[in-house]
Amino acid sequence: MTVLALPPLAPRGGGILFVLSAPSGTGKTTLGRGLCEGLPGLRFSVSATTRAPRGHERDGVDYHFVSPERFAALVRDDELLEWAEVHGHRYGTPVAEWRRACADGVDLILDIDTQGAFQVRERMPESALVFVLPPSAAELERRIRGRGEDDDATIRRRLAAAAKELAVVSRYDYVVVNDDLDRAREELAAIVRAERARAARRLAPPGLPTS
Ligand code: 5GP
Repeated sequence: MTVLALPPLAPRGGGILFVLSAPSGTGKTTLGRGLCEGLPGLRFSVSATTRAPRGHERDGVDYHFVSPERFAALVRDDELLEWAEVHGHRYGTPVAEWRRACADGVDLILDIDTQGAFQVRERMPESALVFVLPPSAAELERRIRGRGEDDDATIRRRLAAAAKELAVVSRYDYVVVNDDLDRAREELAAIVRAERARAARRLAPPGLPTS
């Protein structure tokens, strides 16, 4: 006769939010999208933005490109989980992305700035905040300065934005250094697996149906 009883496990629900932030030029979008391709049950959240699409970008795939009026309506109707103004354009995470992820039983990667990250933490305290660091300050500056095609004011603005983002890194839960794409992706995958295995997520709260 078995005398032991295992704790009841919660059904795997999905809907965990993994926030990825980094100064621009750190490769976080490549990292986040690559991770979604390699790890089952993970989806890249598609943000709404008022900025115009760049050459190769597709509506509904890279962003939901919306007018300022439409964005204002999303804010007014509380249809954005978070939103922020970045480099003069507005960006936000549609609540619909999260609802769909829950319905499909998948988790979400949010590639968003630090202002948005802390709003997510406020509204969804159980989210995991990951900051992606470049290999060195010199490398970050080299990437921000680019190929010398941008004017001084633009570069100064980007450097100031990067400094502002770096100043809040200690408020994140995890730090991943993107020195090698494969290695950084594996470290991110480890974070996702560990978060999914947290007792608070795996054990059924009393009174709920179990799997
Ligand atoms: P880009 O215009 O280069 O695609 O993105 C500019 C910045 O906006 C990046 O730092 C990106 O992470 C951030 N961003 C993209 N989508 C969102 C979003 O939905 N919310 C917030 N807060 N930032 C976002």
